[in-house]
Amino acid sequence: MTFPWQIKALNPPFGDPGFLLSHVYSGQALIFDLGDLHHFTPRESLKASRIFISHAHIDHLIGFDQLLRLNLNRPRRLEFFGPAGIIDHLGHKLRGYTWNLTARYELLVTVHEIGESRMASCEFACRDKFHPGPRTLHPRCGPVICRDETFSVSSVSLDHGITSLAFVLQEPLQVNFRPEAMRRLGLVPGPWLNVLRRALESGCDPETPVTVMERTMALKEIAADIALTRPGVKIAYLTDLGFTPENLEKALPLIRDADLLLCEAAFLDEAADKAAKSFHLTAGQAGRLARMAGARQLKLFHFSPRHSDRKEQFYAQARASFAGVVT
Ligand SMILES: [Zn+2]
Ligand SMILES: [Zn+2]
Repeated sequence: MTFPWQIKALNPPFGDPGFLLSHVYSGQALIFDLGDLHHFTPRESLKASRIFISHAHIDHLIGFDQLLRLNLNRPRRLEFFGPAGIIDHLGHKLRGYTWNLTARYELLVTVHEIGESRMASCEFACRDKFHPGPRTLHPRCGPVICRDETFSVSSVSLDHGITSLAFVLQEPLQVNFRPEAMRRLGLVPGPWLNVLRRALESGCDPETPVTVMERTMALKEIAADIALTRPGVKIAYLTDLGFTPENLEKALPLIRDADLLLCEAAFLDEAADKAAKSFHLTAGQAGRLARMAGARQLKLFHFSPRHSDRKEQFYAQARASFAGVVT
């Protein structure tokens, strides 16, 4: 399968966590966690318009000011998603500066707070000196927190002493049509093709009736005749979690069968007690998680500087439990 997302770590593995995920064809980009951005060019940092924050520890959020500064006089919206409290955290950061010369700037910052059963959103406009707008509340049904035409992002809350959110980017089912089969059946492309694509991508009941050039038939019938489908890419991001049965029970269903698992490995296995005390994983635990999830590839990050002279051992310990590619 061709991998349509380019993944770039914000920093080397002993540096602050975070990844930029850029879609190769659409140019869309998002960031999972916002550590120090100084290894990125402004062009790279400016690609992202949606930023997902696992939790507000400083190493996961210190890049906020850098990103804000780069975007300040641009007419665009930055959307942030994070755990309970993130609206206050970012609101306080925005209030930490003086904004008397920015009344014409059009930047909007929208912050979404992800709760178990509902989400709260708040908008901060640069032209209003980033005063918080009213909070709007929406019920949350299921794990999805953000949906776009080309991907969705789901989340689950894990225990890191505080809540740490795990994120999964999932593309919808990829649908292609077979032109020669359409020609053979005398089907001429038209708006019905988009309706059919959307029905297949959104996983509609195969018995759903669809109208194709004034003929109505079951979705599964026409799909079998002219469509080729394959699952979309799935990329999971797991960081700052203890290796506990509760966390595994919550994380595994979300990250199951990920094409790529981006997973923290703060400690080497011999420091497992330190990992447990600080609600982090060891490299071996990251490998076990990847194996249990049936992931295809594992990318490790967030190594503790206490092991700075033993970088290769992180990969070796993860490989001892996971047969897929580890980088
Ligand atoms: Zn943390
Ligand atoms: Zn951390």
